[in-house]
Amino acid sequence: MTAEKSTQTAIFVSPHLDDAVLSAGGLITRLAKIIPVEVVTVFTQVPGPAKTASAKRFVKLAKFSRAEDFFAQRRREDKQVLGSFGVNTRHLGYPDALWRQKPDLPRWLNRLGKIVPELTHIYPIYDLFVLSGRVANEDSELRISLAEKLAEIFERNSKPLVFTCAGVGRHVDHCLVRQVCEKIWPEVILWSDFPYSLIHTQTREPGRKRMIIKPDWKLKRKMIAGYTSQAGNMFPGLIIPKVNEKFFVKTKSDLRQLDIWREVLRG
Ligand SMILES: [Zn+2]
Repeated sequence: MTAEKSTQTAIFVSPHLDDAVLSAGGLITRLAKIIPVEVVTVFTQVPGPAKTASAKRFVKLAKFSRAEDFFAQRRREDKQVLGSFGVNTRHLGYPDALWRQKPDLPRWLNRLGKIVPELTHIYPIYDLFVLSGRVANEDSELRISLAEKLAEIFERNSKPLVFTCAGVGRHVDHCLVRQVCEKIWPEVILWSDFPYSLIHTQTREPGRKRMIIKPDWKLKRKMIAGYTSQAGNMFPGLIIPKVNEKFFVKTKSDLRQLDIWREVLRG
């Protein structure tokens, strides 16, 4: 390993607590053998109980009665799964899309929102709003705050390899994270979002080269199963389709990135 490579780090910016492992777990474990790896997860908290029908359904599906307990469990799982591979985890604490409320509403609407919570939430219905791919204007403050926080993390590392999701599936949290990362770190490498990619196939990204990683399936299954509060719902019977991990790297990429890819593909 050259002196330069030994100072290289990899940062995976994951929208939710499991996305990075689902889509890039195989690459994460391989990179962790070569360089320090950190998974930074953005939407890791809920500010209180689930209010809308969609949020309540999400918590109930995971067999939790309190949303706060559900997210605390998800944070524990993330630390445990990634920690066991020597991967550092950082949870940024932004609220999940289903919990974000519209700011500065008139008092009458806030009162009405206590009866019909959908009226005061930015993304009131999962299928219609969360999976719309349209990041609402009401998220503009979050966008600025996230950009500042991520820029600070990236700058603290010496030229890190930065990864994030492509946003396949059009989940607004995924789209927002991609947009912010691309803005502050144009060299960001995108991963194809699994399991969304099972339905929405993505074969190319303009101006980017596709890299395929075949994970160690036994290891990857174990990693995904470690997210116990989610895994069973996503994959009944824990039958996980063996889909290779797909990454999209800028065609005119920094040579350092290519060196790392060569090493990973060899390993
Ligand atoms: Zn996600």
